[in-house]
Amino acid sequence: MLTKATVLQVAVPTPVYRTFDYLPPKNCKTTSLVPGMRLRIPFGRSRLVGILISIENNSRIESSRLKRVIEVLDDEPLLPANLMQLLGWISRYYHCPPGECYSAALPTLLRKGKPAIAKGEAFWLLTANGLEADPNTLKRAPRQQELLQFLSKQPEGVNREQLESYSANWQNAMRELIKKGWANTEDRTRTVNEPIAEKIPGPKLNDAQQAAVDTVSLQHEHFQPFLLDGVTGSGKTEVYLNIIRSFIERGEQALVLVPEIGLTPQLLERFRQRLQVPVAVLHSGLSDQERLAAWLMASSGQTPVVIGTRSAVFTPLARPGIIIIDEEHDISLKQLEGFRYHARDVAVMRARQLNIPVVLGTATPSLESLFNVQQNKYQHLILPERAGTASHPELKVVDLRRIPMPDRISPTLATGIKQRLKNKEQVLLFLNRRGFAPTLICHDCGWTADCERCNTHMTLHRRKNKLRCHHCGVERAVPQQCPSCQAEDLQTLGQGTERIEDALKERFPDARVLRIDRDSTRRKGSLQTMLDQIHDGKVDILVGTQMLAKGHDFPNVTLVGILDMDQGLMSADFRASERMAQLLVQVAGRAGRAEKPGEVLIQTHYPDHPLLQTLLKHGYPAFAEAALKERQESGLPPYSAMTLLRAESVNEKEPMGFLSDARKNAEQLTGNNVFILGPVPAPMEKRAGRFRAQLLVQADQRTHLQQLLGNWVQSIESLKSARKVRWSIDVDPMETY
Ligand code: ADP
Ligand code: ZN
Ligand code: ZN
Repeated sequence: MLTKATVLQVAVPTPVYRTFDYLPPKNCKTTSLVPGMRLRIPFGRSRLVGILISIENNSRIESSRLKRVIEVLDDEPLLPANLMQLLGWISRYYHCPPGECYSAALPTLLRKGKPAIAKGEAFWLLTANGLEADPNTLKRAPRQQELLQFLSKQPEGVNREQLESYSANWQNAMRELIKKGWANTEDRTRTVNEPIAEKIPGPKLNDAQQAAVDTVSLQHEHFQPFLLDGVTGSGKTEVYLNIIRSFIERGEQALVLVPEIGLTPQLLERFRQRLQVPVAVLHSGLSDQERLAAWLMASSGQTPVVIGTRSAVFTPLARPGIIIIDEEHDISLKQLEGFRYHARDVAVMRARQLNIPVVLGTATPSLESLFNVQQNKYQHLILPERAGTASHPELKVVDLRRIPMPDRISPTLATGIKQRLKNKEQVLLFLNRRGFAPTLICHDCGWTADCERCNTHMTLHRRKNKLRCHHCGVERAVPQQCPSCQAEDLQTLGQGTERIEDALKERFPDARVLRIDRDSTRRKGSLQTMLDQIHDGKVDILVGTQMLAKGHDFPNVTLVGILDMDQGLMSADFRASERMAQLLVQVAGRAGRAEKPGEVLIQTHYPDHPLLQTLLKHGYPAFAEAALKERQESGLPPYSAMTLLRAESVNEKEPMGFLSDARKNAEQLTGNNVFILGPVPAPMEKRAGRFRAQLLVQADQRTHLQQLLGNWVQSIESLKSARKVRWSIDVDPMETY
């Protein structure tokens, strides 16, 4: 039966694959309602904040059963019509629960129903009198004396968080300093820093850079994706800056997406100095207040430049002019949990809806983007040379076979390191495994230290003297004896960054060694301190994980050693070789960024691996061409479309049972143009105590897959076995194993 009345269609943040109908609040002028406003609604026994999707004049549900909206939270829509349209497309394309998708576009405070007003954050700093005050006069108030000294080292001021980590009871001392007129607080929005007064002119662009800038600028107010394909150090960032300037001069805004790790203070500084405009920054390290403030500034058009990580792709813009995605190949652009969107693909769709150009920049284009160039969907802009005087590094394979090597540092590499130490140049060693050793093994019986909640070994962390599972985070004490046979001969197996650090210190006792990985940079700001040490020449040998592969500029590094290439060459995932090549080229790109030529040594047991050979002999473009041909021959993306249905449960049988039911449904819904593979247990079947399995659906034509997905998801939701598992849909999965 149809209800004839004004009915509001609402996206409710709950994992259900549909919207919900509500009646407007009593005494509400329905003409003032606009999609994109927030509504407080009753939902089950709780109250939630939903987003108004549309205003209808009928519902499939009887009006007596419809609940009323409690309150309309906004006078104006928070999400403009163009963003609502984009989010609608996303929820259909990615088949995610609409409520989760719409609320992902809002900062946390707005999701919680807080008013859309930016409150500045309180900062404390010394006054002019405080700066001149003599700390000795505070001898009898040591707390105040210390605080005065602490603040005098922080001329920019400190926020609550910094004060809390300085001392748990800073408040009393601060109150006294304020009473004396020595300290003060002010409200500030840290995310939207004012431009830096001193303008630094950029270098004169070379011909390739200038051509790229001109081509993109000419396309203003037209949808056109560009692949800016420039070797590392070719001056892509300079190209972005010049493009952005031309759009700002037209009064338009630029949205720039970067990988989390690439959003460094140096990059922001460079943007502010060169563009001389306020920049709104959005990343995961912000407080909720900071994020809201930056979001509102972008949305109202007060900041011409908005720069952020993945989820910044949803930031509303008052006058959108251009979107730029740096490191478009980077996997961190894809959300791997919950609402699994790819920010690059969303950005391209957003540009299309806004009718503006979009630039995807990288030194190692994804095969998807190269394919889109072949299809004439993207325009290819190439920067073939390193900018300035820097030259390309030389890549060499070090064959590890039959070489005695207790610590993963081959004689060739050791010689190279010695040479650099003598020349006072820096060395970067790369190993994508943190901890001391991947596991412990009993020399007598072969027992290994395995995680009880996952199908994996536990990593030995010697600094903390703990065994830790990198998949579920569980920690255990290191046993003194083998738990299985009581033998005392427990040996470490394999190498992690901690162990390499020890080995380097032993081999090169005079060298200053610095380890950079997630363990050594856990404290806020520590990565920055370490990067500064490297730049100031206080480090000779750097050893680290892929944290070091991206974005950073180390002008004095002239030797890069890749300690273990074999992992990447041996993986089962069809994207593994692409990843391996990108990582190799990116890491290699850290060498020889300045005048000094660089050298890259790649250690492997498979020196003749064909893709590695193509990459070394002919470079990334040739590698990508060969890899694309392989994908085409095996009918893999981008030559086909994939979707993965995942399920997990604490009960071993249930995921497979659910997926078998889901498979039957899919078979009924589809013809023979969609292939269904599985279900199979996930390669790491047990993780964090849950059993996992997956079902892959694949089609040569994306439309065939999309036709299936809509109905399929509905049918899955009503399966009985679906209630016993946690399941999720991953459209265009980045990891298929
Ligand atoms: P990418 O982003 O491609 O790695 P950057 O834009 O960071 O490259 O440029 C690398 C280095 O080269 C930077 O130090 C930059 O200042 C410098 N550079 C860029 N373009 C030029 C140019 N046209 N002339 C001289 N130096 C340049
Ligand atoms: Zn044993
Ligand atoms: Zn585990």
